[in-house]
Amino acid sequence: VKQAKQVGRPQVYEPREASAARRRFSIETELRRALDRDQLKLSYQPLINLKSGEVAGFEALARWTHDDRGEISPAEFIPVAEESGLILQLGRWAMDKAAQTVAGWDTAAGEQLPIYVGVNLSAIQLARDNIADVVESALRSSGLAGNRLTLELTESSIVQDPARAMRVFEALKALDATVAMDDFGTGYSSLAYLQRLPIDVLKIDKSFVTGMMRDADSVAIVRAVLSLADALGMSTTAEGIETVELATTLAALGCASGQGFYFAKPLEADAALAYWKSRRKA
Ligand code: C2E
Ligand code: MG
Ligand code: MG
Ligand code: MG
Repeated sequence: VKQAKQVGRPQVYEPREASAARRRFSIETELRRALDRDQLKLSYQPLINLKSGEVAGFEALARWTHDDRGEISPAEFIPVAEESGLILQLGRWAMDKAAQTVAGWDTAAGEQLPIYVGVNLSAIQLARDNIADVVESALRSSGLAGNRLTLELTESSIVQDPARAMRVFEALKALDATVAMDDFGTGYSSLAYLQRLPIDVLKIDKSFVTGMMRDADSVAIVRAVLSLADALGMSTTAEGIETVELATTLAALGCASGQGFYFAKPLEADAALAYWKSRRKA
């Protein structure tokens, strides 16, 4: 065993797992407090219609700037929220906030803007909360029409309890919302679910999109997903478009919409609305 790295360090016994567990625990405590104090924010990443170049909608993404630790990534706090059950509170907050924000844009514009908002739903919410009630109440209190809302669900929402997923997806469709399968291709769902469930959009995971720049296999997978979606009457969104080459290639392959740092990073609400205006053609 190499001990060289230890030389000169204080001999405090602190296994990696113990400090990780401690951080996780304090993240949980502090996330609970941040939620109670309404300290989380939503960022809005534009989704671009790859044919017209206009903004089709925005994905709402949770952001947390911790008083001492600074910005904490959702990749870290969402799993903690899921394990602790805080995701139910976080999920309701995100749903309400996103609906209010977009309804507020409409009010300021004096018309219903031709843009939707995508909200991420965790599999834990699907299993443990009454999602349709959460969505309905967000729509009712904001006044936003259901067809302005896209719910992003992952394959893990289906696999645990497909019968429940079917009921929930249908309840969401009854509210006129759009259902998107997020991170498509990374989970364990079977194609039979795709056929049976009312899914409107496949969001191609960014790992395949990024992979297109390096290997032919990723290109083949993306082509296959696009043709599968087409055959099943679903629309497509590509995540993680970081270059103009990817944007033009995906457009040429028939991918309907896309998001990524090439177009814009997730933006604060005001900047997101300004971005929509700047790309508007008519
Ligand atoms: P996601 O739903 O797949 O969201 C897309 C993620 O890809 C976002 O990461 C976004 O910032 C990132 N992204 C977009 N374009 C690019 C690009 O061109 N390059 C790269 N490298 N990344 C790009 P973010 O905001 O860090 O969120 C990570 C994940 O956390 C989300 O993945 C989602 O699963 C989860 N999440 C975020 N907010 C919420 C929320 O309010 N509720 C739930 N349940 N999950 C959330
Ligand atoms: Mg998403
Ligand atoms: Mg995604
Ligand atoms: Mg993803």
